[in-house]
Amino acid sequence: MKIIKSSKALYDELNSLKINGKSIGFVPTMGYLHEGHIELIKQARVQNDIVVLSIFVNPLQFGPNEDFDTYPRDIDRDESIAVESGVDFLFYPSVDEMYPSKPTVTAVVNDKTNVLCGKMRPGHFDGVVTVVTKLFNIVQPQRAYFGLKDAQQVAVIHSLISDFNFPIELVEVPTVREKDGLAKSSRNVFLDANERIEAVEISRSLNMAKNMIDNGQYNTSVIKDEINKSLNKTSGKIDYVEIYSYPELKEINHIEGKFIIAIALKFSKARLIDNLIYSLN
Ligand code: AMP
Repeated sequence: MKIIKSSKALYDELNSLKINGKSIGFVPTMGYLHEGHIELIKQARVQNDIVVLSIFVNPLQFGPNEDFDTYPRDIDRDESIAVESGVDFLFYPSVDEMYPSKPTVTAVVNDKTNVLCGKMRPGHFDGVVTVVTKLFNIVQPQRAYFGLKDAQQVAVIHSLISDFNFPIELVEVPTVREKDGLAKSSRNVFLDANERIEAVEISRSLNMAKNMIDNGQYNTSVIKDEINKSLNKTSGKIDYVEIYSYPELKEINHIEGKFIIAIALKFSKARLIDNLIYSLN
């Protein structure tokens, strides 16, 4: 595995491989790798000749009172995991490499962001699409791998790819979970012992909602009320519990078609998100 910190160096390396007909699979991450990230890498490994993993904690997507400074980082551990998982190139740029000066031009998301994390984290998705645009231009992959744990991000990246004509296939990877159902996340390390037990309520309440729907309850207010009741049993603070059409992310009162049930729950040091994407047809 080659570790590359310069955009130009990575671009040049990959360019010569592409000239020789090699396909490139790209997995963008913020590091502190876990099995969720590894699953993305594994899928990229199977579908492409070359796998590029990026690790970059992107300051542009963090709000002023968010956890940019404390976001967990461990590049040595990440390097070993990347090697074991079959990564060919680890792109690990500094903030100065990605943003040598304050950007003059950034990308702005106009739809799908007035709800869920976009609403709770103003500017977050503008930061995401700006860095992903830069990374797409540096790597120019055939395929890019994104996790459905961040389902709103997947919806926004689909729009980025089609609106900006990136010749890239977005591969959606289902959420990888702990044995008890908690979605794997780099931020889970911020949970204390009691919160870690309580956090299971997030996936449990999503399963409960699925059972309600399977048993014919299609009224989204009733379903959301039940989820709220379950989550209120924890010490976490509910950021949102919503049911929207997916990937359009429009509010629905009645379950139909493809939809997402999305939850964000704030514990003392970790804001956790999870979702269920489901279709009645
Ligand atoms: P992050 O490092 O948290 O920005 O995540 C990098 C990529 O890994 C994103 O596409 C995430 O959606 C994906 N990811 C994070 N956690 C999981 C998980 N538990 N299962 C599947 N994909 C995940």
